[in-house]
Amino acid sequence: MEDDHAVPIGIDLGTTLSVMAYVNEHGEPITIPNTEGDLLTPSAVLFDVDTVTVGKEALKAAALEPDSFAAFVKRDMGKPFYHRPIRGKPLPPEVIQSLILRKLRLEAELALKRPLRGAVVTVPAYFNEPRRKATQDAGVLAGLNVLDIINEPTAAAIAYGLKGAFLNPDGSARRPERILVYDLGGGTFDVTLMQIEGRLYRTLATGGDVHLGGLDFDRRLVDFVVGKYVAAGGADLRRDAGHFHRLLREAEDVKRTLSSREQTHFTYDFGGHAFRLPITRAEFESLIEDLIARTLFTIRSVCRAAQVNPSEVTRVLLVGGSTRIPLVARTLQQSLNVPVERVPNTDEIVAHGAALYANLLTHSPKGKPPITIQNVNSHALGVLGTEKATGRPRVAVIIPANTPLPVTRGKRFSTEREGQHSVRARIVEGGDRTGKNATQIGECVVRDLPQGLPKDTPVEVFFSYGTNGRLTVRARLPEQNREAVLTIRRDTGLDDQARQQWAERLKLLRIAGLEDTEPA
Ligand code: ADP
Ligand code: MG
Repeated sequence: MEDDHAVPIGIDLGTTLSVMAYVNEHGEPITIPNTEGDLLTPSAVLFDVDTVTVGKEALKAAALEPDSFAAFVKRDMGKPFYHRPIRGKPLPPEVIQSLILRKLRLEAELALKRPLRGAVVTVPAYFNEPRRKATQDAGVLAGLNVLDIINEPTAAAIAYGLKGAFLNPDGSARRPERILVYDLGGGTFDVTLMQIEGRLYRTLATGGDVHLGGLDFDRRLVDFVVGKYVAAGGADLRRDAGHFHRLLREAEDVKRTLSSREQTHFTYDFGGHAFRLPITRAEFESLIEDLIARTLFTIRSVCRAAQVNPSEVTRVLLVGGSTRIPLVARTLQQSLNVPVERVPNTDEIVAHGAALYANLLTHSPKGKPPITIQNVNSHALGVLGTEKATGRPRVAVIIPANTPLPVTRGKRFSTEREGQHSVRARIVEGGDRTGKNATQIGECVVRDLPQGLPKDTPVEVFFSYGTNGRLTVRARLPEQNREAVLTIRRDTGLDDQARQQWAERLKLLRIAGLEDTEPA
């Protein structure tokens, strides 16, 4: 394929909505609309026998065909299967995500009338290794050449910075910045502290709350309204799933209105008699005050992890739909003595950052990245073993959380028996010292050890965590001065063979309304 005609794109593969963008000839990021004419595509998939529908149309059919419908798949990334079967069959989350990505790729090719060279896909900063791997695999299954996976807050900082806020057109910082990216979305809250000096983007620490977001605010509002309704002698409508769902929809609508207006009404039609409750912004804000206050704790703990005093932060960037609630900026402004800036087009900014980064990558001379992005690992990485003295499980941490990447650290194991042929180690992420709550990533097996090795022969296993948060493992026999053959058997995610099988099966599926092209 001729590179001159190809354009890289950036994709924000969101929990509820996905967005794609490219960079035009003037260097500006442009959101690519889908064939429905929308900038945002709901991350929803409806399966039929040999066709899938992605986006708005899929969402409409969700209630009618729940067994054929998948949404919020991002939450299950890194697990072996989507949390419920689709048309009776378990499906890996990356397979479902790949269909969303394929739709976006085909739409982009239509809109740009050009083949696609590659894509940068974004992930939350807290995504661990298996979840990044799953995202990358989803891209490959969608026929994309995944140039890189970058963190959503980094993408937001790039796009906002390049709009003239604090970056030069080549991506370098005008002056050193310490930026706190505050992302309050629909279901999760994320904080990332970044430092940008020249062309070096370093994430210093990251943290968050995986169960805090707009949905919690909607629930608070429903509780408030139903409370009033019950006090007036009405029934508790939350007990009925259908009512609860509709109440949440109305609550979200009311919440959004209150971001721009001082007051509105909560209206609900219950079996023919409607009720209409006036509600002010101040009342709504008092319902969620404690949740917003909780985010301040997270900010402080992230600053502590980075050993940065909150007063040394140069700016706070607000991203995510829920930061449109005026209380958010007000609370932060009052308690942090730092400029708080809400990024414009918060729905598109992450995709714009991904596109700008993809563009920087493809236009830089070979082997010379225009900017360097240094991440930290959000979870500790280690090996689960047994303590010799007690026989209890024990995690030997090899790479602690919030270690700057790339990093390579090793650990020395030894053979237990004479003439041993292989050594195996379980790789775990997160959790405590006994391995409780840890995620099992897989197992690495050093095989084909030389014949007749004595007992207690040292075997060094090295973990290399790449800048993109991807893990590779290497093993060495130092005394024999040779590399050992090593394989990682992953507990989750697709191995090469499974991925190829899925690639074949996915070829038989069509995306409704779009003609397939040969993958780029
Ligand atoms: P995610 O990245 O988690 O998918 P987003 O960043 O797109 O989510 O944010 C979605 C959330 O933002 C939803 O809970 C939505 O109700 C909320 N939201 C969107 N617009 C507004 C608004 N004007 N006021 C308050 N909340 C809003
Ligand atoms: Mg988001």
